[in-house]
Amino acid sequence: MKTPTPHAFALFSGGLDSILAARLIMEQGLVVRCLHFVTPFFGKPQLIPHWEKVYGLEIEAVDVGEAFVRLLRERPPHGFGKVMNPCVDCKILMMRKAREIMKERGASFLISGEVLGQRPMSQRRDTLNVIRRDAEVREELLRPLSAQHLDPTTAEESGLVDRSRLLGIFGRGRKDQMALAERMGLTEIPTPAGGCKLAEKENARRYWPVLTRIDEPTVEDFELSNIGRQYWSGRHWLSMGRNESDNAALERLVRPGDAVLRVRDFPSPFSLARQITPWDAATLQDAASLVASYSPKGVRAAAASPDGTVAVRIQIDGESSFVNVVPRRVPELPWGEPEFVDVRKAIKAENQPTFDE
Ligand code: SF4
Repeated sequence: MKTPTPHAFALFSGGLDSILAARLIMEQGLVVRCLHFVTPFFGKPQLIPHWEKVYGLEIEAVDVGEAFVRLLRERPPHGFGKVMNPCVDCKILMMRKAREIMKERGASFLISGEVLGQRPMSQRRDTLNVIRRDAEVREELLRPLSAQHLDPTTAEESGLVDRSRLLGIFGRGRKDQMALAERMGLTEIPTPAGGCKLAEKENARRYWPVLTRIDEPTVEDFELSNIGRQYWSGRHWLSMGRNESDNAALERLVRPGDAVLRVRDFPSPFSLARQITPWDAATLQDAASLVASYSPKGVRAAAASPDGTVAVRIQIDGESSFVNVVPRRVPELPWGEPEFVDVRKAIKAENQPTFDE
């Protein structure tokens, strides 16, 4: 059963530091509730029952997708890191949300697993201070793993938390954390970091066109861009499943006005053409020929037919039409995703601040 009023809420990524930070405060007899933030770019809410069991924590998922996409749309004031990761503003956003929850639910303070000096930018002392200031959590945010290097927070000063039992971990090494995990008897150590798609170049190539070619991109648009193969030709966007699970995920994301392309009579990838700008017949035909090229049986049928074509069904809002196309992996239009170097150039050209993480 969940406890009604925790003493503290902990920002919980699922990484080792966030587990240790929460457990360290629980060791002092305080009640801690963990918050696991979820967006189309990070968060694994499906692992919560497992984490709760293995680490003895209470964890709830907090969906901040809308606010996060708004941050991307409006551009992060502290800029993007090395890829498309707005770490400083991401942390501010999560802390603000955590603070709101803390106030609403009557808890006294917040916990995060940040370690001073661990990362080049977002965990430097001055950046940590900016995050604390901008998220308005100066008094409430306790970082138990590095607390001895930081000023005492209200929870320490009031005696609720015994500062002498907090740690002074500094830097990138993992030795201290591993020793602590062993002392706490943790049987499962999560693999280090990873898990944020915005920090991966391959994913930035998916997200940048969504952010820059759609006037008001939504959470659902970014969810769509996470799935299968992604093709862009100007403002025409085609998503194609690579397997049954992609196909099912794409099918769930179809919304009014989307065109669904599938080869008639033969298995083919589920392909979703989103109408950001109206699709003319020639563009749809071109996309259909690309879709057909991913249907091995369709390709064989086309080769065996007198005119070298196969029929592709195009369905928009329940209305079907058919086009006969020659399957082409390289069709007329330049379908593809931007190269990562071009994404970075575009980010720089926007003249916003960037940071080195
Ligand atoms: S890596 Fe991703 S989840 Fe982590 S702070 Fe940066 S943007 Fe946020």
